Amino acid sequence: MRLMKKEKSMKQIILTGDRPTGRLHVGHYVGSLKERVRLQNSGKFDEIYIMIADAQALTDNADNPEKVRQNVLQVALDYLAVGIDPAKAHIFIQSMVPELTELSFYYMNLVTVSRLQRNPTVKAEIQQKNFESSIPVGFFTYPISQAADITAFKATTVPAGEDQRPMIEQCCEIVHKFNAVYGETLVEPEIVLPQNSACLRLPGTDGKAKMSKSLGNCIYLSDEPEDIKKKIMSMYTDPNHLRVQDPGKVEGNPVFIYLDAFSRPEHFAEFLPEYQNLDELKAHYQRGGLGDVKVKKFLNSVMQAELEPIRTRRKEWEQRLPEVVEILKEGSAVAEKAAAATLAEVRKSMKIDYF
Ligand code: ATP
Ligand code: MG
Repeated sequence: MRLMKKEKSMKQIILTGDRPTGRLHVGHYVGSLKERVRLQNSGKFDEIYIMIADAQALTDNADNPEKVRQNVLQVALDYLAVGIDPAKAHIFIQSMVPELTELSFYYMNLVTVSRLQRNPTVKAEIQQKNFESSIPVGFFTYPISQAADITAFKATTVPAGEDQRPMIEQCCEIVHKFNAVYGETLVEPEIVLPQNSACLRLPGTDGKAKMSKSLGNCIYLSDEPEDIKKKIMSMYTDPNHLRVQDPGKVEGNPVFIYLDAFSRPEHFAEFLPEYQNLDELKAHYQRGGLGDVKVKKFLNSVMQAELEPIRTRRKEWEQRLPEVVEILKEGSAVAEKAAAATLAEVRKSMKIDYF
């Protein structure tokens, strides 16, 4: 009963973010950004924090600080372009909130090396980055620092892509352990994944499992129309669908996964009226007689329609960079105040609040 009452009165807080390792792409958009904007506008949240994770980006880009620095502003522009509203959400820079580092340091005592080694996302990224024999310690422990980022704001909700699920699980373990050892202090978060399963992990234009800044297989939110078209027209499809009359596969075919993620019924009436909906288009492709070029042209129309207003808004904000910097400054100040309050509670619970 006590727990129920507590949950009911608990503040609803969002913490989410991105690494400034490049501009944001359409995988981020359908996997997380779109959901954030929806939640932001739902009116159901007391506080929303959106973090540009520069310190985390440095864990595997230590020798490239200029790249990280440049992309802080690029990511902020992408946020504003998709409709993150600074009046409703605090956009902040991770390294401007040093309390997060101190929290990470304390949480490190609660996690074992073997538990970090078992984290499937860390495992996959170590392989992808060829870190096998030389993993930077900072990179290896980033799930712990991510737990600090989330718990510093007492976040209840983390809208993110599927690759973040193991991070949230590990964060919940840290919360349990901390509360069990030091007394009820931290709040357990919940991940919110996109509702559309095609958006959980959008593949790259090369057909690789994940569109990722580090893999160079992205369509960026800031891409110009010609670039978008070029990327779509050269996308990987079903390699066995050689002639138009051949039957094609839609499962695992990135062009159809993108259509699952982006197309809406009204797009058919507007751009491809000979089909009623995506199911009809898929059925035709599967039985043969439908060429890749036609499907790609349709996908191009759909994506151009979706990305045009985002690009326009981004260009408007690009003319107002001093305001963007001010937004980050204000957001970071608010975030630091919140994190400092949690850190004070953490220190008290850990009995290291001496004076
Ligand atoms: P990096 O390669 O530097 O790790 P990234 O492209 O993986 O970059 P992140 O900043 O690590 O991007 O991820 C930010 C958010 O976007 C996370 O919530 C992640 O789950 C989500 N995300 C990233 N890529 C995709 C994708 N291809 N499909 C769906 N969601 C994604
Ligand atoms: Mg990533």
